Amino acid sequence: MNNTASSEQPFTTPPSPMMAQWHAAKHQAKDALLFFRLGDFYEAFYKDAEIMAKELSLTLTARQNIPMCGVPSHTADSYIDKLIAKGYKVAVAEQIEDSKDAKGLIQRAITRIITPGTALSPQILLEKRNNFFTAIVSKDEMFGLSSIDLSTGEFRASTLKTIDLILDELHRLRPSEFLATTSFIETHPRFFADLSQSFPFVVNQKQEASLASCLELLALHCDPTPLKNNPPAILAAGTLLLHLKEDLQCSLDQVTSITTESLSQFMAIDRTTQRHLELIESPISEKNTLFAFLDETCTPMGARLLASWLLRPLLSVSEIEIRQSGIAALLAMSDQGGQAREDLHSVRDIERLIARISARTGSPRDLYALARALAPLPCLQKSLASIEDAAILSRLRTLDALDPLVQKILSAMNESPPLRLGDGEIFKDGFDPKLDVLRTLSKESVSWIARYQTTLREETGIKTLKVVYTRAFGYTIEVSHAQGAKVPESFQRRQTLVGGERFVTEVLKQFEHQVLSAEERAKALEATLFETLREEIKQRAPQISNIAKNIAFLDVLLSLAKVAQKGRFIRPTVDTSDRFEIKEGRHPIVEKSIGFASFIPNDVRLSPKEQLMLITGPNMAGKSTYIRQVALLAILAQMGSYVPASFAHIGLIDKVFSRIGASDDLARGQSTFMVEMTETAHILNHATPKSLVLLDEIGRGTSTYDGISIAWAVAHFLLTTPSAQAKTLFATHYWELTQLEKEHANAMNFQTAVHETSKGVVFLRKIIKGGTDKSYGIHVAKLAGLPKKAICKAEAMLKELTEKKSTPIKDLQLSLFQTAENPILTEIRTLDINQISPLAALQKLVEWQHSIQ
Ligand code: ADP
Repeated sequence: MNNTASSEQPFTTPPSPMMAQWHAAKHQAKDALLFFRLGDFYEAFYKDAEIMAKELSLTLTARQNIPMCGVPSHTADSYIDKLIAKGYKVAVAEQIEDSKDAKGLIQRAITRIITPGTALSPQILLEKRNNFFTAIVSKDEMFGLSSIDLSTGEFRASTLKTIDLILDELHRLRPSEFLATTSFIETHPRFFADLSQSFPFVVNQKQEASLASCLELLALHCDPTPLKNNPPAILAAGTLLLHLKEDLQCSLDQVTSITTESLSQFMAIDRTTQRHLELIESPISEKNTLFAFLDETCTPMGARLLASWLLRPLLSVSEIEIRQSGIAALLAMSDQGGQAREDLHSVRDIERLIARISARTGSPRDLYALARALAPLPCLQKSLASIEDAAILSRLRTLDALDPLVQKILSAMNESPPLRLGDGEIFKDGFDPKLDVLRTLSKESVSWIARYQTTLREETGIKTLKVVYTRAFGYTIEVSHAQGAKVPESFQRRQTLVGGERFVTEVLKQFEHQVLSAEERAKALEATLFETLREEIKQRAPQISNIAKNIAFLDVLLSLAKVAQKGRFIRPTVDTSDRFEIKEGRHPIVEKSIGFASFIPNDVRLSPKEQLMLITGPNMAGKSTYIRQVALLAILAQMGSYVPASFAHIGLIDKVFSRIGASDDLARGQSTFMVEMTETAHILNHATPKSLVLLDEIGRGTSTYDGISIAWAVAHFLLTTPSAQAKTLFATHYWELTQLEKEHANAMNFQTAVHETSKGVVFLRKIIKGGTDKSYGIHVAKLAGLPKKAICKAEAMLKELTEKKSTPIKDLQLSLFQTAENPILTEIRTLDINQISPLAALQKLVEWQHSIQ
């Protein structure tokens, strides 16, 4: 994203009055590129011109050594869209008085500032994604976070206790722009630096407003009651509104309500886990994500709601069951909701259309599109009329409330209305009698002129006389020099041409006045009629937004029903118990890619007594797929979806954590191992007995001794710390860890089944009881295509090492666990594991490692 500021340049000679006006506007526009209206063009000067010329491939010219470039006013929006998409901000300075009324220089003023976080243009917004502008403030050791999507009117604010939670939430929101107050930046410089690095934000600094003024401002737009007793959230919301209103001159008419949510309402999925499980984003392809898999929605608002459900699985059994029942009812219908989906396909982005209409940027085309989008709703009602589900029925009932308004718009407006208000032809003939009269007047001008020309020819006897129209002189009568003598006195000379002369008559002047003013009056009348209609719709905006929400709800349920039916999903039992059991579970995305018949289903059973599954097995045997699958099924179940399994009983999970794979975070100077340990520390510090923890190859980022020790300590911590006894899936190829089962009744060994034949080994992808010490690494190397010579050498080395029966691991075990005199051993024995923090435990391990080395 580009945030290049385009500063004005110093000037040595006094600027012309017009350039002085430009400098004043530029001062106000700050780092936004200034589109300065000059007649039919928007011009840019100085650095702005250079940036625009480069980014928009415009010709850079210069006047009095000032670089400049321009775009025609009627195409400016497409250029603005391109700049916003590239991360720039744009300020538009308009002529705010009519050139006819101007005494001297026309007055100009900035009328709008468009930024990535406030854009409303459908050309740059992603349909399936919200476009949030987010503000953060800090107050009394807490943080307030507030976000607005001006394109949908969604407005939310909450109070968060830690920076970690803010980062998680920001990964869910993925805002396009970010506002941080100066006090926040001063108190949290490190965090702020991290934030600016992680997110492509345009950062605005702003002093915090007072709580009272924030409340006052909030109350102007919505009922602030949901934020009662929540000062940080109020401050964040107020600061954000103030910035949008005052600094960016946004119309906030589309913002009519605010919601707040407490994180305790949702299953917590931290940012690392969101990424590891590829819920919404994937490093490989967006198609690989769970969102893409589930997204069978037909409308953009449905898709946006689906993403929100996915990132915020529920913790309320009754709310989950409402969604499940909806899916069940849809699946019970004879067409399984097929007709309803057909109807939904012609429903467009009602949320964004109504937001644009409320913000008064809605064009005639938007108005018509809204009516077209709402028109199929009575059909949708009929398609789902036979459904037996209270939640769906109550939403369906709201859908036809606007039908009279919709019919009014459709019968009033032309089928392809213009994009801009001043272009006329918005309404059909017959909609307004006055408009009809004016239109007839201007349309009849052609036949009137023809009749008038015939009359004049007859009256004067000049057969070649013509009535013509030119921009400069309007309607005139053209007569050649040869016929000059026949021109009557009543003709008034207007223009002399090479071959003749042009005249006007009183009648012609009067006609011209009537025609031209009729056209203008028709356009003005259309604009007034349009404004009235837009206002009428705006009055219904809350109702329309509510309908949009209901459609989104139905759309998501229809989508989940379709996915369930296509993927042979079942309805899971969800309750608050400690039982977590899945039979024949499948990883939906891997299954889709390799085919239903090829995927091997697996079971899982976790409870306080069967708390930690240690899964050993060779690489490529299916360990990662298995543990991810378990987490995905828990998320699916708690977002209200069906799950790919033959049976599922999900005791609610409060948080899902994962430590999967190794990735460097070199941008922040963190090594693979440091990232791994930071993520592990986060898990150990935050897991609860209700959490689900996935650990894949912990300790891989360091040497074998370190790795085993840390993996052991982590498993031990989770098994023995009452506050952190999370349901854990621990995949490892350190077979030494299978010893844990002997020491802890709540640990269980599992392995990936492997079938050895004389020709080689086959990975069966089945998770079975027991541990294994075989790694089959050479088999995988062979599969990967390592040269035969290298494979032979590896096999020889393996044989030699096995025959010696001495491995570094066994040495480690001897030194760690059997040598009585070793002081480290004494220290381990006397260490109170329940008292030591995970971080301190890791530090101890590092200390021991140093001593051993
Ligand atoms: P590991 O974590 O043990 O190295 P993965 O989970 O990455 O192994 O699995 C390796 C590959 O095996 C996957 O890409 C997938 O194609 C296949 N696979 C994994 N689990 C299954 C399964 N249950 N059924 C069929 N194929 C599977």
